[in-house]
Amino acid sequence: MTTAYVGLGSNLADPSVQLQEAVEALVRLPSSRIQTVSSIYKSRAIGPGAQPDYLNAVVALETLLAPLPLLDALQEIERAQGRIRIERWAARTMDLDILLYGQQWIDTPRLQVPHPAMAKRNFVLYPLAQIAGPQLVLPNGRLLGTLLEKCARGDLVQTQGQLHHNTHSD
Ligand code: AMP
Repeated sequence: MTTAYVGLGSNLADPSVQLQEAVEALVRLPSSRIQTVSSIYKSRAIGPGAQPDYLNAVVALETLLAPLPLLDALQEIERAQGRIRIERWAARTMDLDILLYGQQWIDTPRLQVPHPAMAKRNFVLYPLAQIAGPQLVLPNGRLLGTLLEKCARGDLVQTQGQLHHNTHSD
């Protein structure tokens, strides 16, 4: 079993419903078990027009799926939830990223792990630190806490919202 950290993000009209749906889809993944789910974090959408706030969370997933089959499964979840968006909304529905896959360093055209943008994203680092702790060692030997110190919290808010993942079935 490898622990993979998966980042979830949505700014659909009802993003918390999208996040909950994605967690339920992760619960149904084969050969995988959700270990921990972070709180829901909220940040304001930037850019013109009234867009819903972004909601993000991070899930720790114990899995026997190799990295590419895991990416396939995550993209299938994105597609399933994206279908709703294409018909009704223009905003981003569901974005699922493999942030970390154990201690593996992966650099292929389709998949880069650790996720290349994670060091700059407060909405990834703060929920990741909530569930993994700042002592988490990254594949380059650095501590997660070191990245956190360089990444301002900004307008990111840890909400009271919780995602439920206790409906496990295999
Ligand atoms: P985005 O539109 O930002 O969600 O990017 C999606 C693309 O990023 C997909 O084509 C993936 O193949 C690629 N990708 C590369 N590394 C990762 C990763 N660690 N997690 C998820 N997608 C990734």
